[in-house]
Amino acid sequence: MNEEFQRALKAGDLDAVRGFPKADLHNHGWAGADPASVGKILGKKIAPLDHRLTSMAEMHAWAGEHFGNPDPKLRPGLFEAAFARAARDGLARFEIGDDVWAITLDGSAHNVTNILKRAHDRGAPAVEWIPQLGMSRHCRIEDIRRWMEPFLELRFYRIVDLSGDEFAQPIENFKPLYRLAKKNGLRLKAHVGEWGDADSVRRAVEELELDEVQHGIAAADSQSVMRFLADHRIRLNICPTSNLMLSRVESLASHPIRKLFDAGVRVTINTDDMAMFGQSVSHEFLNLYKAGCLDEKELDQIRENGLSD
Ligand SMILES: [Zn+2]
Repeated sequence: MNEEFQRALKAGDLDAVRGFPKADLHNHGWAGADPASVGKILGKKIAPLDHRLTSMAEMHAWAGEHFGNPDPKLRPGLFEAAFARAARDGLARFEIGDDVWAITLDGSAHNVTNILKRAHDRGAPAVEWIPQLGMSRHCRIEDIRRWMEPFLELRFYRIVDLSGDEFAQPIENFKPLYRLAKKNGLRLKAHVGEWGDADSVRRAVEELELDEVQHGIAAADSQSVMRFLADHRIRLNICPTSNLMLSRVESLASHPIRKLFDAGVRVTINTDDMAMFGQSVSHEFLNLYKAGCLDEKELDQIRENGLSD
């Protein structure tokens, strides 16, 4: 525990909060960059989302309108901006990578990985980077497997994540891919319980043998699922502003991270898509403190929860 970090929160001092080691364990490729940097690279002004949305379709429409499909030539710069943001935010640990689908943009797993490695070297060499492979629920299992295998052969990636519409296809479909990732020594994460219910969180953890859950906030609706997560030391990587702006929670003051923390679930605080929501990890800590959701000691504990596996 770090009393100076706690004092920085109480003082509402953003610069001071930036100075303490934090983790960001929930990111989506170059959308981990701040909106101003993304705007500069894309040659347009991008302001963070300023009104609440109510569906993933609305979210995809907003992203399509503001980011479009950037020219693949811009990808190195966008990733470098994401790493530079991590350094400014005072991150000690940054879990980020690209979707395995990116192999279709850059030609090979080697090329995708080199873009990321260069971005890390240039943008945030002092930040510990945990290379992450992403998968989308929207893709066919056989396509994901074909794209994923060359990445696994590099023996470079340490963690796998699954995102996209939780209802696109049953979680069980992804079991063979998670078995493959586990066989290759990767830690296992998946997005679940953002739009789905508490039982879907438990089912995903059991079926896919997850180590961590991205979001998972619906678990707060069930005492037994919370107990299950706490007993199995499953970490929930939560993104408060994302939950608020996508209407998954009423307010930061009533965010279910409070209930999950009280139930002994290991939670962390993350950004999701900084390019869209405009809030760094340091902002997220301050926002929850100011909203009265968690006190400075609890937030300090949560900060430490993210600094190791
Ligand atoms: Zn996410």
